[in-house]
Amino acid sequence: MRLSERMARLGTETAFDVLVRARALEAQGREIVHLEIGEPDFDTPPHITAAAIEALKGGATHYGPSAGIPELREAVAEDSTRRRGVKATPEMVVVTPGAKPIMFFVILALVDPGDEVLYPNPGFPIYESMIRYIGGVPVPVRLREEKGFDLDVDQLCDKLGPRTRLVILNYPHNPTGGGIPEAGLRAIADAAARHGVPVLSDEIYGRILYDTVHASIAAMPGMEPLAIVLDGFSKTYAMTGWRLGYGVMPAPMAQVVAKLQTNSTSCTATFSQKAAVVALRGDQSSVERMVAEFRRRRDAIVEGLRTVPGVQCVRPSGAFYVFPNITGTGYSSRALADRLLEEAGVACLSGTAFGEFGEGHLRFSYANSMENIEEALGRMRRLLARSR
Ligand code: PLP
Repeated sequence: MRLSERMARLGTETAFDVLVRARALEAQGREIVHLEIGEPDFDTPPHITAAAIEALKGGATHYGPSAGIPELREAVAEDSTRRRGVKATPEMVVVTPGAKPIMFFVILALVDPGDEVLYPNPGFPIYESMIRYIGGVPVPVRLREEKGFDLDVDQLCDKLGPRTRLVILNYPHNPTGGGIPEAGLRAIADAAARHGVPVLSDEIYGRILYDTVHASIAAMPGMEPLAIVLDGFSKTYAMTGWRLGYGVMPAPMAQVVAKLQTNSTSCTATFSQKAAVVALRGDQSSVERMVAEFRRRRDAIVEGLRTVPGVQCVRPSGAFYVFPNITGTGYSSRALADRLLEEAGVACLSGTAFGEFGEGHLRFSYANSMENIEEALGRMRRLLARSR
C-alpha cells in the first residue's frame, strides 16, 4: 500500500519498541530488568478496581458522551480547582482514553503547516512526532543538565514570537525529572499572554513531586483563555492499562477537542470513567504511599549511579525517571543502551529517544523494586568494567 506523505514524518515512542525487544529476549530464557517503560509497578488501588467492577455489573457498558460522563467531568473540574487554584467547570473538561490523545487533539486543532511550536528537548517524543506529522515546525527548547534540567525560561521566551502557535510545557518532566519554578511559570505566562499563544501544560506527573508543591501555569494571571492542562490517571493511580486521561481548557476549545474525539475514538470506556470518579474523590493515601516509595528509590538509584565509573547523575525533583550523563563511559547513548539490554539484560532507553539533545544520557525508570534497581546497577557496573 502507498502511504500518505505525512506518515514519513510520524515518530514513535521508543519505550514500546524496547519493551518488545526485551520481551523477545525473555522468550529466549534471558532474565531482563525492566527500567524502560514509564509505568508505576504498583497495582491500581483496590477500591478503584472494585468501582469498575460495580460499574460493569450495573450496566455501564454502553457509549457515553464524547467529552466524558458528567460525573467525571465534574470530579475533574473540582480536583483541578482545588489542586491548581483555577476556576475549572465541567464544560472545560474532556476525558480521553489515556492523556496522550489530548496532545494529539490539541496539536491537530491548533497547528497549521508552517506554524512553530515550542517544546522541551529532551522531551516526551510524541510532542515532536505530532508537530512534524501535522506539518508544524518544532522549535526545541533545550533543557540543560547544569540547570538541573529545569526549563530554561529565558531561552523559551526568546524563541516565542509571531510565528509561535503553541507552547508545550511538561513538569515534572519526562525524561529528566526537572521542573519549572513558579517565577518561571509566571514569566512564561506573561510572554504567552502578550503574544496570545496557547500553552499546553503536561502535568501528568504533577502529583509525583518530592521536594516542592506543584504549581500550574493555568493559575497564572492572563492564562485563563490560553491554558490547556493535560493530566490523567495512568501515573498517579497506577492505571496505565485503563487508558484514562483528560484535558482542562477553555470551554469552546473543549468542544473542539470533544469533536475530534467523536471523529476518532467516540468516547472513553464508560465503566473506566465511573472508577475514575472514585479515584479522584476517594482515599488518596495510596498515592502518598507510592510517592514516598518512589522517593526512596530515587535516592537509591541516584546514589548508585553516582558510584558507576564514567556516570554522573542529577537528582530529579519529580516523576520516576533519572537521566544520567554517561559520556564518561566512552559510549554513545544508543550503543550503551543496546549493550545494556543485549549483554547485561538491563532494559533502559537511550537519551536520544527523547530528541537530539538527549545524546550523552540514558533514561532509567525507577518504577521497579529496590531489589531490581540494585540488580540493574550491579549489571551495569560489571558490563562497564568488562568493556574497559
Ligand atoms: N505525558 C507524558 C510526559 C508522559 O510521560 C506520558 C506517558 O508516558 C503521557 C503524557 C501519557 O500518559 P497516558 O496516555 O498513559 O495517560
